[in-house]
Amino acid sequence: MIFQTKTKTPITPITETERSAFCREETNLETKPLVEETKSKARWQKIPIEYMRLTPDELDTRISKSKNKLKEKIIILGHHYQRDQIIKYTDYQGDSFKLAQYAASIPELEYIIFCGVHFMAETADILSKKHQKVILPNLTAGCSMADMAITEDVLDCWEDLNELVGNNVVTPITYMNSTAAIKSICGENGGLVCTSSNATEAMKWAFSNREKILFIPDQHLGRNTGKKLGIKLDEMVIWNPFKELGGNTLDSIKNSKLILWQGHCSVHTRFNIDQIENAKKKFPEINIIVHPECTMDVVDNSDFVGSTEYIIKTISESAPGSIWGVGTEINLVNRIAKQNTDKTIFCLDSMVCPCSTMYRIHPAYLCWVLESIESGKIINQIEVDKKIINNSKIALNRMLSLE
Ligand code: SF4
Repeated sequence: MIFQTKTKTPITPITETERSAFCREETNLETKPLVEETKSKARWQKIPIEYMRLTPDELDTRISKSKNKLKEKIIILGHHYQRDQIIKYTDYQGDSFKLAQYAASIPELEYIIFCGVHFMAETADILSKKHQKVILPNLTAGCSMADMAITEDVLDCWEDLNELVGNNVVTPITYMNSTAAIKSICGENGGLVCTSSNATEAMKWAFSNREKILFIPDQHLGRNTGKKLGIKLDEMVIWNPFKELGGNTLDSIKNSKLILWQGHCSVHTRFNIDQIENAKKKFPEINIIVHPECTMDVVDNSDFVGSTEYIIKTISESAPGSIWGVGTEINLVNRIAKQNTDKTIFCLDSMVCPCSTMYRIHPAYLCWVLESIESGKIINQIEVDKKIINNSKIALNRMLSLE
């Protein structure tokens, strides 16, 4: 047998290498001119210096003016983890799934300005109409979790698994937070995409067809979902793309039900049990609510677990006076707190650590792409390859048929 996976050198995720530039102790996340924000070690897309020097007020005037001029042609979508100074210009907000569904439903506008990260803009391009152009204001706004599943590594793993356990034994499922190329591999091989709200249904569907699942790229969402379905921890293995056979033995793979790709979200894995215990000591009546990208021990010690939309809905519909310790991205937690002033809401992590790749959509980039459209120049368009589009659509449509 010849196996494809080889020992390689792991790369530290950008959200971790740049953490020092973004994490802070004070809660002030006010936007500064881009020239000041890029004084940190962050490597952002270069834009004309004129835009870098604009103050938040100057940017506000220019973005509002440009948006107004282009109103018949554009729509601006914003992910919930975007900073407030971007959210205020967006026409529609949501998590990655809601934004993808929305992008598929707006055929009349020519430009979709996507304030989120790269894989989300790709999904919008896959689901939008042919004449529409999807623009990502800063091309370096990626997702470190999506970057942990490189196409070649996933193909190597897929070939190894088929060689080892046979064809049609494993169903590949990829979380929405992955590149279009990974979604395409899943579509081509009988698999599907899932989100944090339908991962359970996706796994049930997969197990009704085949005996094992390869879950990419978030091991924590995969483990938390598998556990909920009654899969024992010793029936799960981790696939480390940097090691031969993913760091497993032949037997452990043959005996497993769930093969978890070794990927994680650098933002959600910051939450830990100590933070939950400290919050409970301070507020014995507290409700702990976390995202399923958190580690298993954090999820097991929480009262509520669910997607970004679920977190917003659960807190918004809770009783006045209730107290919430939240395990998700800080821009969203702060916004929920501002919208629910009758409740006590705080982030479980006392350090203020926004998702550093989401944070790269600075208003200067938004201003730059809008004014470029006005002058007839399209910049930062996200265009997914045709073959990838076809197979990704199969995987996305399998997911949509679950609902
Ligand atoms: S919060 Fe985590 S999963 Fe979401 S975009 Fe940031 S790094 Fe990626």
